[in-house]
Amino acid sequence: MTDMLEPDLCVVGAGAAGLSVAAVAASLDASVVLVEKGAERDGTPGGGMGGECLLTGCVPSKSVIAAAAHAHAIRSGAPFGVSAAEPSVDYAALRAHVRAVIADIAPNDSVARYRAMGVTVLARHARFVDRATLDVEGTRVRARRFVLATGSRPLVPDIPGLAETPYLTNETVFDLDERPRRLLVIGAGPVGMELAQAHRRLGAEVVVVSNGPALAGQDREVAAIAANALRAEGVDLREGIAVLAAEAIAGGVRLRVRAGEGAPEEVLEGSHLLVAAGRRPTVGDLGLEAAGVAHDAAGIRVDARLRTTNRKIYAIGDCASGGTGGLRFTHAASQHASLVVRDALFRLRAPLDPTAIPRVTYTDPEIASVGLSEEEAFRRDAKARILRWPVGELDRAKAERRTHGLIKAFVARDGRVLGCAIAAPHAGELIAPWTLALAKRLKARDLAGIVMPYPTYSELTKRAAVEDLRPLATNPWVQRWRRLMRSFG
Ligand SMILES: Cc1cc2nc3c(=O)[nH]c(=O)nc-3n(C[C@H](O)[C@H](O)[C@H](O)COP(=O)(O)OP(=O)(O)OC[C@H]3O[C@@H](n4cnc5c(N)ncnc54)[C@H](O)[C@@H]3O)c2cc1C
Repeated sequence: MTDMLEPDLCVVGAGAAGLSVAAVAASLDASVVLVEKGAERDGTPGGGMGGECLLTGCVPSKSVIAAAAHAHAIRSGAPFGVSAAEPSVDYAALRAHVRAVIADIAPNDSVARYRAMGVTVLARHARFVDRATLDVEGTRVRARRFVLATGSRPLVPDIPGLAETPYLTNETVFDLDERPRRLLVIGAGPVGMELAQAHRRLGAEVVVVSNGPALAGQDREVAAIAANALRAEGVDLREGIAVLAAEAIAGGVRLRVRAGEGAPEEVLEGSHLLVAAGRRPTVGDLGLEAAGVAHDAAGIRVDARLRTTNRKIYAIGDCASGGTGGLRFTHAASQHASLVVRDALFRLRAPLDPTAIPRVTYTDPEIASVGLSEEEAFRRDAKARILRWPVGELDRAKAERRTHGLIKAFVARDGRVLGCAIAAPHAGELIAPWTLALAKRLKARDLAGIVMPYPTYSELTKRAAVEDLRPLATNPWVQRWRRLMRSFG
């Protein structure tokens, strides 16, 4: 006889999104079934729980970026009077470092921890058989509500010959145990740019080809600062390039590329190829048709409450599209999770506002943004203003010789913050006050009034916000008031 489970909530996928839902729902005493097909497989790091962020995304990439920053610091000490030779990088030791960091974090996401919370974890593949029933390899689950959190996989573009050519993706690049002599990267999105800079700093020659502009979708000025930083470090970053074909050659790979219609074909050769051309939501083999859940190439379609076309099934994290605004970040997945728990367990409607979710790319300088873009801000309010301040004007930046970057904040005519884009060291931290300003509908002058410690990069926020007050200095009423006060002595 088939087992039947009837929990309050059944979550499919134990990545950032699914784990957050399961943990919050269990803490509220709801009965939860969590299904993860990767769990409890022999040899899977972290026991297969934790999804992309832990195993093949945020954690390994930030661990490699940290190693690369060390190499870069050693190489660039001369202006500080610190001399050092070219650093020697041991990729096997680097891989061990990455694995150690994953192993350190993995217990937080483990099957044992979730079972201890009272969650029923099924380490199997899930598939709907009808609108209300999930088959988990023999066990049937009929939950009050389902949450799909099946994530995404690397998108491999349809390039002739690529399927027969050895290539790396984020699922394999962190297993390299020797330095790529010459790394070709297809794609200049966040993943391609972060890993290109990291491997360049670790001593590889790196060529990045992108069919569009680097870091498309980001503020153009801010993106250009990151792109120029990579170029200055020796990354051969080529934008507007079509890859016509790929093939394996002795000791590596060859790409045939062209910079636009009519341009001559060019050949690029490398020892390794990294495909970082975007993400493909995991929607296959889930029985979505049987469940009445609509999806397309962008993912499972959801509304602002993250409900699919089957009102008893939600979709969150990387697998969802539409109401999520297409943002694929771990912190976005956590935000989806908390809204869905409120909606599913308490019927508390809390529509998602994707513009309030910060977006960060961990190049050096980091780039971060939140809220509306420049174009969107001016569409919202024709009299919107841009408050800017260059990183190079900060004393801390001068002392550290990290002067490339700027902040741009977009404010409505009444001073309310509409959005912000930053290219700066630690931009991922610096975006926090602007995220708060958006969430609490603050005005730039609210940020201008905060005391920021000196000398820090946080002064960037204050300097930009104070720009909002500049027109006051020349305001005739302010001048008149000042003269009146002077007349009193
Ligand atoms: C290289 C790289 C670096 C990144 N860096 C950052 C960063 O610094 N900061 C940030 O915020 N984001 C970063 N991201 C994005 C972040 O990793 C993702 O947004 C996040 O991990 C998505 O979580 P998720 O839970 O939606 O999906 P996933 O983590 O992919 O989890 C989905 C889970 O569902 C399981 N599953 C799928 N189908 C089934 C099924 N039918 N049955 C059972 N189980 C199933 C899968 O096995 C998987 O474990 C990075 C991504 C990459 C690739």
